[in-house]
Amino acid sequence: MKHITYQGLNFRKFIAEADLRSRISEMAREISARYAGKNPLLVCVLTGAAPFAVDLFRALDIDAEIAFIRFKSYEGMASTGEVRQVMGLTEPVDGRDVIIVEDIIDTGRTMKLLKAQFEELGPRSLAVATLLSKPSARKVEVEADWTGFEIPDRFIIGYGLDIDGQARNLNDIYVLDSESSPGNSEA
Ligand code: 5GP
Repeated sequence: MKHITYQGLNFRKFIAEADLRSRISEMAREISARYAGKNPLLVCVLTGAAPFAVDLFRALDIDAEIAFIRFKSYEGMASTGEVRQVMGLTEPVDGRDVIIVEDIIDTGRTMKLLKAQFEELGPRSLAVATLLSKPSARKVEVEADWTGFEIPDRFIIGYGLDIDGQARNLNDIYVLDSESSPGNSEA
């Protein structure tokens, strides 16, 4: 299936399941080499990163643990704007080698906040593994230690990434066709 439609928008296949799998194996090899004997804690940011985090975790050939968190957004009091907080972390993080596992770094705001909140918990080391990154969309400076694929600033779905809750269960990643994107005049 090369083309699919969600909510009247056309998407085309962008990263095939086999390519995801082989890149994730490479990342897992590097992470296994770096963390051998350290029992790292992979922290999966729900919901989008779940398929990637689980596949990455299963591909590691060292002792490791996995935990799942939500990064909850809510409006702060008065004019403080959006406040976002890590929710659901039950494992102690202090003294651990922590790897935050994300689906995608876009503007970088989410990862910047996440890293700051984890640093406060006193991990022995803190690293980031993201499946995807849109370097040209960055608004704040934040980089990952492992990036699966760098992609252009286009809307994508599949393999955990959703459109209004849908499409997370697609095994390939799809990109919005530019001609079906209102206001996008790129070729
Ligand atoms: P950031 O804070 O880096 O701008 O945004 C990160 C979050 O935005 C990701 O965890 C993801 O939930 C969402 N996001 C960014 N780009 C895309 C995209 O192309 N497709 C989907 N489905 N979500 C995206």
